[in-house]
Amino acid sequence: MKIVMLGAPGAGKGTQAKMIADRYHIPHISTGDIFRMNIKNGTPLGQEAKTYMDAGKLVPDELTVKILLDRVAADDCSEGYVLDGFPRTIPQAEVLTEALTKLADKIDYAINVDVPDENIVKRMSGRRSCPSCGQVYHITHMPPKAEGICDKCGAELVQRDDDKPETVENRLKVYHDQTQPLIEYYEKAGVLKNVDGTKDKDEVFAAIAAILD
Ligand code: AMP
Repeated sequence: MKIVMLGAPGAGKGTQAKMIADRYHIPHISTGDIFRMNIKNGTPLGQEAKTYMDAGKLVPDELTVKILLDRVAADDCSEGYVLDGFPRTIPQAEVLTEALTKLADKIDYAINVDVPDENIVKRMSGRRSCPSCGQVYHITHMPPKAEGICDKCGAELVQRDDDKPETVENRLKVYHDQTQPLIEYYEKAGVLKNVDGTKDKDEVFAAIAAILD
């Protein structure tokens, strides 16, 4: 099963993607996580990506597509995967469709986690992330057991630089301009499923599981 997650930044698509990956035993692939890992490890890719990410801009398609295509060619992706944060532009989606078509394959579901803009800013400002394992929390909706500490690995939680208010606004604009058109793209492909992302995370997941089961 090959799944694409759609939705504004902060809509909760990463949380849902992780839950999907666990339930259906497929890898969760987040281009944002891949970039952040490269930044943490000080690689040339990380250094290049960081300049765009810190400004709330997209990393150029050419760079992003190469990384994604390499990742989905790995052995653990043979039974499928859930993509979180890719594609983010029409050209990225076209490259993915083309690569899959060559293998007589396709995306089975594009799940749009729908959250209105007015909720997004609140969600992103409350988001906290683990710099060590990548687990994401929210200070009110999904708090860790001990304040400021990752449940999974005990590291101190941080606010991602690109979740700071000055960057959030830019990311939302980029979302509307470049990523939202993907909803129509996957609708035309006949694989779009909308879920109401304003509900709590277990209710959202129940709606997704009802589609995928
Ligand atoms: P995310 O963790 O998905 O919110 O991604 C964080 C940041 O990484 C984004 O704001 C972009 O700067 C960059 N990024 C992640 N995925 C992509 C992508 N598919 N295309 C371009 N930039 C991306």
